[in-house]
Amino acid sequence: METKELGRTGIEVAVIGMGTWKLGGSYTPDFSDDQKAIESLKAGIKLGLTLIDTAEMYGAGHSEELVGKAIKGLREKIFIATKVSPEHLSYDGVLKASERSLKHLDTDYIDLYQVHAPSPSIPIKETMRAMEHLVDESKIRFIGVSNFSVKWLREAQHSLSKYQIVSNQVEYNLLNRGIQKDLLPFAEKENMAIIAYSPLATGYLMHYCSHGKETLKQLAVKYNKTLAQICLNWLISRKPVIAIPKAINIKHLKENTGAAGWRMKPEDYKVIDKVFS
Ligand code: NAP
Repeated sequence: METKELGRTGIEVAVIGMGTWKLGGSYTPDFSDDQKAIESLKAGIKLGLTLIDTAEMYGAGHSEELVGKAIKGLREKIFIATKVSPEHLSYDGVLKASERSLKHLDTDYIDLYQVHAPSPSIPIKETMRAMEHLVDESKIRFIGVSNFSVKWLREAQHSLSKYQIVSNQVEYNLLNRGIQKDLLPFAEKENMAIIAYSPLATGYLMHYCSHGKETLKQLAVKYNKTLAQICLNWLISRKPVIAIPKAINIKHLKENTGAAGWRMKPEDYKVIDKVFS
């Protein structure tokens, strides 16, 4: 699997990871598909999709539990990214949430601990103080955020005294390129990773969207790839971007793995940019 340095961490991570929203439930736990979810995660790891994104919110902790089961015996090969929910962003809230996540994941460290979304009521300085404490305690390796605007990112960065924000996880796909206006250039300048969520627009790009389909199909034929591979490859061709498609279907996981390790000709990325501008 192709790798990229995550921000300025010096750590190489897989450019295509695995999302886990709805694995183990949405806002409440769902135990009905546990075996299938664990098998999918294990299959993805074997394929090289070793960055796994989850959150305490997903299945109210059950998604983290499934990740914990899937990575048993493989911990050092895996890069775990999880998230603390906005309602837990007080100093004590972050510390307690991280303990719960560590327990659910059945591990003693989290690679990337992300603030899931900014809180309108809790000062970011207080949250970041807790995040720095967790790094000092070796409970987390890196601090990340999610759904942060440039303004919020700047405030968060200024709140940190010792460490950096290494990534911002935001929606980015061919149909939603909003971050190209300011967040993406900011990330490039600051050497911060962008972790693209909903990179396939939750599947809409392949199944329902007709816009730009002919162009994508032509490129798929030209490069002997699938539509999903073209969509993901377009994302990871951008320097700071890592994509985390979610797939429970192993055929999808294999296909997503095949989105990395190659590039189209520069003029073909430009064609896509033009069609989806
Ligand atoms: P997504 O990855 O864009 O799309 C997932 C859907 O696409 C699933 O239905 C999946 O089907 C299907 N799919 C995957 N690979 C495919 C392929 N090669 N061909 C056809 N269909 C394919 O959407 P997402 O789950 O919203 O986003 C990915 C991850 O980002 C989440 O799981 C989560 O970890 C993260 N996320 C974060 C936030 C945030 O606020 N930070 C918000 C949303 C998402 P199957 O499952 O049936 O294989």
